[in-house]
Amino acid sequence: MKCDICNKDVFRENAHLLTTTEVVSQPEYWKLYYESNVRHFASLGSHSFGEFILKNFLTQSWFQMSGQESPWLVCPDCISLFEVDHSKTRNYAVKCWESKQWWRFKKTFLPPGSGSADGFLGLIVASNCTQLALGKDKPVLQQ
Ligand SMILES: [Zn+2]
Repeated sequence: MKCDICNKDVFRENAHLLTTTEVVSQPEYWKLYYESNVRHFASLGSHSFGEFILKNFLTQSWFQMSGQESPWLVCPDCISLFEVDHSKTRNYAVKCWESKQWWRFKKTFLPPGSGSADGFLGLIVASNCTQLALGKDKPVLQQ
């Protein structure tokens, strides 16, 4: 199995399972997404994370990612991006893994809150990404 964020191999022993809402609501995820595709976005005329937001690439990418129904498998490196309970997301990954291996479970386990993310969340995410692009700790309009 591969990490849905960075595409590295993940194993039962160290995988985490996150819902789409948990992934797409994290501004650091979008920063990494931009940085992983930096050449692609540069070729489209966007040369910084700020431009990625301003030129609507964030919105376009949001619509692609937020519609994903199935949960995301996340490796031990990428999990540090997300402000979630890491023991819970570990536990969900194990449960999901086991539910796929045993014939007596009729359905694959899905973590609570699975399914596509609420569209309105996109507005909050855009605002949080903008703050991240500007540097969260530096108030922009100070004097
Ligand atoms: Zn990863």
